[in-house]
Amino acid sequence: MVSRPAEFCPRCGSALETITLEGRDRTHCPACEEVVWHTPVPCAAVAVVDRAASAVLCVERDVPPGVGEWTLPGGHMEVGEAPEAAAARELEEETGVAVDPAALEILDAATLAPRNGKHVVTIHYVVDRAETEGEPTAGSDASAARFWNPSTFEATDEVFRPVHEQRFRAALES
Ligand SMILES: [Zn+2]
Repeated sequence: MVSRPAEFCPRCGSALETITLEGRDRTHCPACEEVVWHTPVPCAAVAVVDRAASAVLCVERDVPPGVGEWTLPGGHMEVGEAPEAAAARELEEETGVAVDPAALEILDAATLAPRNGKHVVTIHYVVDRAETEGEPTAGSDASAARFWNPSTFEATDEVFRPVHEQRFRAALES
């Protein structure tokens, strides 16, 4: 399985052909006689909510895509990793804020619009600030980490990453 449309078989390197299977175009290796499945990549993100300040912990992206855009801490799940553990790990890597994965609650799960053929499904979690430890400091993949109140955010020139903006606001209503 691959996260972007494959041209060559990841097992034997043969050029792939396109076949129709179950009503969809599939890439198929004529040598291995197997379908090379193109599947979405699971990701996990978490909104840490400070209810007293009506604010959510956000990070400013330091790596493409969307450098300079604000987003919720999150990223790819590792093989063998539970989604809530992935969300907690990404939170700590990007903001220095720690949380017990068991404290996270699911906000929603969503299929994001593909970018360059890469399809992502993100599981969004939410957790109260009181359940977390540590002050936000920008870590890996982030140039800044801080709590933003949506109204305060709107009054600035800052830009939120479109696919995450809805969850930024929804987290405060959860
Ligand atoms: Zn092959």
